[in-house]
Amino acid sequence: MAIKEFKTESKRLLDMMANSIYTNTDIFLRELISNASDALDKRHILSLTDPEISFDEPKIRIDIDKKERLITISDNGIGMDRKELEDNLGTIARSGSFEFKQELDEKSEADIIGQFGVGFYSAFMVADRVEVISRKIKEEKASKWTSDMNGYEISSAAKDDYGTTITLHIKKNTKEKKYDKYLENNEIQSLVKKYSDFIRYPIEMLVESYDYKEDGKSEKVIKPQVVNSMQPIWKKNKKEISAEDYDNYYMQEYYDFVKPLKTIHYKVEGNTSYTALLYIPGQRPFNYYTNDYKLGLKLYSRGVFIKDEAKEIVSDYFRFIRGVVDSDDLSLNISREILQQDHQMNVLKKSVDKKIKSTLQNMLEKQREDYEKFFDNFGSQLKYGCYDGFGANKDVLIDLLMFKSSKEDKYVTLKEYVANMKEDQNEIYYAAGESVEKIRQLPQMEKVLDKGYEVLYFTDTVDEFLTSIIMEYDGKAFKSILKGDLDLDSKEEKEELEKKNEESKDLISKIKDVLKDKVSDVRLSSRLKTYPVCLVSSNELSIEMEKILKQMNQEGVKADKIMEINPDHELFTALKKMADEGKDISEYASLLYDQAALMAGLELEDPSAYALKVSELMLKALNNK
Ligand code: ADP
Repeated sequence: MAIKEFKTESKRLLDMMANSIYTNTDIFLRELISNASDALDKRHILSLTDPEISFDEPKIRIDIDKKERLITISDNGIGMDRKELEDNLGTIARSGSFEFKQELDEKSEADIIGQFGVGFYSAFMVADRVEVISRKIKEEKASKWTSDMNGYEISSAAKDDYGTTITLHIKKNTKEKKYDKYLENNEIQSLVKKYSDFIRYPIEMLVESYDYKEDGKSEKVIKPQVVNSMQPIWKKNKKEISAEDYDNYYMQEYYDFVKPLKTIHYKVEGNTSYTALLYIPGQRPFNYYTNDYKLGLKLYSRGVFIKDEAKEIVSDYFRFIRGVVDSDDLSLNISREILQQDHQMNVLKKSVDKKIKSTLQNMLEKQREDYEKFFDNFGSQLKYGCYDGFGANKDVLIDLLMFKSSKEDKYVTLKEYVANMKEDQNEIYYAAGESVEKIRQLPQMEKVLDKGYEVLYFTDTVDEFLTSIIMEYDGKAFKSILKGDLDLDSKEEKEELEKKNEESKDLISKIKDVLKDKVSDVRLSSRLKTYPVCLVSSNELSIEMEKILKQMNQEGVKADKIMEINPDHELFTALKKMADEGKDISEYASLLYDQAALMAGLELEDPSAYALKVSELMLKALNNK
C-alpha cells in the first residue's frame, strides 16, 4: 500500500499542530465532535427527501482504551467514501482561515491554533497516529484512512453501520505536556461538558455507576450514558447564560478571536414564532468585501439544523450578522428548495431585519462608541445597501449612515448634520477625496470653513455615487464643494466678481487657449483664499468619481474640469500685469494648471516637464536675490 503525501499547506498546518505545546490541546475533542455532529446533520437532511435513508438513533459515542492509549469517536452520520476520505482529510479544507493564519502566524501561531477551528487535523495535537474508518450512507464498502502525520494510507475496511469512527493513538507524556489525561474518563467527560454541551445529538460514554439490588447491596456497573445536555445555547433561558457563554459560543462557532461587539438573543411569538441568537462581529472578517465571504447565519427549525448561509432570512445589507434563527413554524417535510420561496421565510426575514435595524438604531442613540466601532467595520456595507437597487432600501438605512465631518473630525449622522446647519444654509456640503487628510488640504475647503459651514468628508468609494441616488435628506440637497458654483456670495460680492471677470477677459481667454485640451473653462471665482487656483468639475461627474471609475477600468469616463483662479491672489495680479504688457504667459498658465491638478490629486501628464519649469523659476528667483 502506497503512502501518500499531504499537500503542502496541510503539511504546514500539521507541523503547527504537532508542535503546539503551548496551545490549548483540549480543543481537539470539540473539533471532532463538531464534525460528527455535522455528519449527523447531513444524514438528517438527506433522510427528509430520500425514503431509503433512515435517521433513527443519531448519536456520537466516545470510547477510551487506557491500556492501548486509544480514544475513539464514532458517529452514525453520513460517512465518507474512499474519495471523500482522500479529498477531505488529505488536504486542509478550511483554506480561508488558513490563509489568515499564514498572515498572522509569526505573531502568535500557538494562540491562533487554539482559537481558530482547525478541524480534523487538531487530532494530531494529542495523537501521533490517527485511523479513520468510514462507510458512506447507502454504500456497501467501508474504507480506512490512516496517518502518522508523515503521510497517509487508504485501504478497504469492514464496517457494519454507516458513519465514521475515528481512533486516536494518544501521544506519550512529554516534559512539557501531559497527554495521559485524555485517557481519563472524567477528564473527557468534563471536556464534553465544557465545549460540546450544546451539541444536539446525544454524546454517549461508558460511565461507572452503581446498580442497587433488592437486597440493598449495590454493584458497580459500567453503562453507556449521555454526557451532554443537548440543549443549544439559544434555547436556554437568558438568565442561565453568562456574557462569557455567549462570547465563547460565538468565538468557537465562527473561529473569531475577537469577542462579538453585540449579542442579540430574543424570542418572537405570534404570527411567526422563533428564537434567535444574533451577533454583530467585533471585527470585520478579513474576506468580508470579497466573493469568498459567507454569510454566517444558520437556520434551524425546532432545534433541527436546516441550513447554513441562510440568505433567505436576512437582507443582504445586514450580511455581517452571524448567529442562529430557530423557527417554530417552518415545516421540515418540504425540501430546502421549496423552503426558499416560502412565504414564511419572507415573514421571518422581515422580522429579523427589523430586529437588526432597531438594535443598530438603539446602539447609535445609546452606545455611540460601540456604534462607531460597528460603523468602522461595516458602515460601507450599509452605504452599498442604500445605493443598491436605485435606493430601494434607502429609507430603512439612511438614518444609520454616518460620515466624518469637518466640525470635529468625528462621525455625524445626516440628521445631526441638518440639525447643525447654519440658518442661511440650504444644502448639505460635502467633499470627496481619498482620505480625511487629503480633503482637509484641498484649496476649496478654506472659504467654506471660514463661513462656518460643516463639510462632510466623503472618503468611501461609494459615498459620492450615493448622493446621485439619494439626492437629498430632509429636503436638503447634497452639494459638493468641488463641483459647479457654490453660490456662497452676497449680491454685491457677485457683482464685484462679475466686474473682475470682465476686466480680465483677455487674460482669461489666453489661459483658456493654452489649456484648451485640459479644461472646458477657466474663470475667476470667490471660492479660494490662500491658494491661487483650483480645479472643480461641472455638476455632473466629479473629479473624484473619475478617479474611482479609472480604477474600475472605465478610463473613458471623464469629469468636465474647470480651472478657477483666485482674483485676490498676488499671482493673478502679477500675471495680469504681464499680459497687459503684451508678454507671453503660456508657460505660467500651464504651471497654474499643473498645480491645480496636483492639488486635486490628479496625475500630471508630464511630471518631468513640470519639475523642469519649477526648477527654472527657482533659479530665476535665486539669481535675482
Ligand atoms: P471542516 O469541518 O471545517 O470542513 P475538517 O478538517 O474538520 O474541516 O473536516 C474536513 C471535512 O471532512 C469535512 O468538511 C467533512 O466533509 C469531512 N469530515 C470530517 N469528519 C467527518 C465525519 N465524522 N463524518 C463525515 N465527514 C467528516
